[in-house]
Amino acid sequence: MKREFAVIGLGRFGGSICRELSEEGMDVLAIDTDEDKVNEFKDIASHAVIADATDENALKELGIRNIDHVIVAIGDNIHASILATLILKELGTKTLTVKAQNDYHEKVLNKIGADHVVHPERDMGRRIAHNIISNNILDYIELSDDHSVVEVKAGSKMRGKSLIDLDIRAQYGCNVVAIKRNRDIIVSPRATENIKESDVLIVIGADIDISRFEKHLV
Ligand code: ATP
Ligand code: ATP
Ligand code: CA
Repeated sequence: MKREFAVIGLGRFGGSICRELSEEGMDVLAIDTDEDKVNEFKDIASHAVIADATDENALKELGIRNIDHVIVAIGDNIHASILATLILKELGTKTLTVKAQNDYHEKVLNKIGADHVVHPERDMGRRIAHNIISNNILDYIELSDDHSVVEVKAGSKMRGKSLIDLDIRAQYGCNVVAIKRNRDIIVSPRATENIKESDVLIVIGADIDISRFEKHLV
């Protein structure tokens, strides 16, 4: 399935999105005001053009209206990022993902109708902090301010025990949604599933519950 995307701003973040989408076979229109950046993406994206995303006519001429999902990855110029978002929203972009530079920027983007606001530096910082705190936490996705999904290595206290033995939901209020075992993934494991040494558990729950679970069992 080929879907159409546009990436505006080809810095490290936007550039990386553009590369990945292109490698996945997606049709990507890459846009930047900087000629060197555009040249860098000529052979990577389906189309790479020099344009200013704060110029409504320029965006119209590029046919941005026909593109389902636009990613605004303009970094330091918050003013340009907000203006481009407003214009795209007015032009009727179906899905708009915008990179925020700080919390205030994020607030404004949400107000003006960005569908997804991403905050890569902050989120990656949090993720790495979690990894540093616990060697057993492999990954971490924030669902909301106080709920997450974490990927944890089975602790020694879990080995050979089933979910019932450990009584995880009742004791810690979190759910094991899947168990990764070597190359397999057991989705919605049975309560009687025995945990093995090399298992990785995918756990969903409130942050306070997950941290109690980690403290006691991981
Ligand atoms: P990253 O951290 O992802 O590398 P950054 O935070 O350093 O990005 P910038 O370099 O400020 O962000 O911006 C990313 C890109 O956005 C730059 O290549 C820049 O030329 C481009 N850009 C800035 N303003 C506009 C605009 N109005 N229209 C299109 N592209 C723009
Ligand atoms: P509950 O009363 O919590 O809904 P249940 O009556 O459906 O559980 P089982 O499914 O047999 O009973 O599970 C017994 C206990 O095992 C649960 O209370 C829970 O603590 C734990 N458990 C089972 N499956 C999971 C899971 N996927 N994640 C976390 N804990 C689980
Ligand atoms: Ca940056």
